[in-house]
Amino acid sequence: MITDPTPRTSLGEGKSSRKNSATEARGGGNPIGLYLHIPFCVRKCNYCDFCSKPPSENDFDKYFERLKSEFSDYKRSPKIKINSLFIGGGTPSLLPLGYFTRLFDFISDTFDFCEDCEITAEINPGTLTEEKAKEYRALGINRISIGLQSIHENELKMLGRIHSFEDFLCSYSLLQSLGFDNISVDLMYGIPEQTAKSLKETLEKIIALNPQHISLYGLIIEEGTRFANRLSELNLPSEDEECDMYYLASELLRRAGYSHYEISNYAREGYECRHNLKYWNTDEYIGIGAAAHSFFLGQRYGNTRDLFSVVRDPLANGETDADEYVMMRLRLSDGLSLDEYRKRYGTDFCHGREKLLFRLKDLGLLTLDGGKIRLTERGFYVSNSILTELL
Ligand code: SF4
Repeated sequence: MITDPTPRTSLGEGKSSRKNSATEARGGGNPIGLYLHIPFCVRKCNYCDFCSKPPSENDFDKYFERLKSEFSDYKRSPKIKINSLFIGGGTPSLLPLGYFTRLFDFISDTFDFCEDCEITAEINPGTLTEEKAKEYRALGINRISIGLQSIHENELKMLGRIHSFEDFLCSYSLLQSLGFDNISVDLMYGIPEQTAKSLKETLEKIIALNPQHISLYGLIIEEGTRFANRLSELNLPSEDEECDMYYLASELLRRAGYSHYEISNYAREGYECRHNLKYWNTDEYIGIGAAAHSFFLGQRYGNTRDLFSVVRDPLANGETDADEYVMMRLRLSDGLSLDEYRKRYGTDFCHGREKLLFRLKDLGLLTLDGGKIRLTERGFYVSNSILTELL
């Protein structure tokens, strides 16, 4: 399986349980991103290791109490400005009507929305109602990310998704009829039983709907998931088939006018996800909710997966800041600027890597033009191996 190290919006917890108060003041200043995690789903999908579970009685209210207390850790005067907000999960659209309004009360009590703030909510077909969609619109949510994965019933069933393609179409047209004009659709390749033909059909149907943004993730079998427990029974595509799927998808999407701006993401011009770009540009963001990560005031820390208490751990994954920066920048088609690297870290990234870089260039895995290193389409697919060699 291709490994996708995208900082997905719900990430695992760290190791120790040292409380980090995050109370240093930094109101005003440059706007940052805010991520909010809603850890509830109707049921667990077979491949999912995100922090999510079916809600028990009173869980929503208990979780909102926790959120309220966590928000209070970030109160500043003046308030911290945000220019992107991403409400992810889990399934945020599972929250009953009125809960998003409560959420926005917490947010605006603590943070100052920039006028052009990108505000994304993740939804799952099968949990969205007209009333909820109207509530989102009234609150100023201006970007919706819908988890679909596939148009095929057998693949959806295999993944353990709760919805059909018909459910998706209903949600999609409801959102459009309410004026949402920035919609992203999540798709997946490498699904058991999936073929290049069935993936092509999925992509063609979605392209025909003309969403502004499409994310395409390779399935990863994560430890502890249902898929991991019955791995030998799964009819997974071979590595070669999966590789063909990746190229097929990128070819189809680019031909349809989507820019492949990040390894797993495609967008119409001007619709790249501002919030996720913050991760890839190593800009600062705050994450609130179970398992959410933050990079704030130069510190990286993560909340544990505990739903009802706030315990933060410092994050240290062994990479230096410079390595992290290279890993993130090479995910983007914009690539790594050698000038920018020199300005940040005071050294020449190419120094000592000249032979390796030229070898990778000769293999067609990267380009070295205009002072930038960029991975090619082939390079994107094997980015993990390239990064291992480079760092
Ligand atoms: S809907 Fe998303 S978060 Fe929820 S179980 Fe499925 S994959 Fe996990």
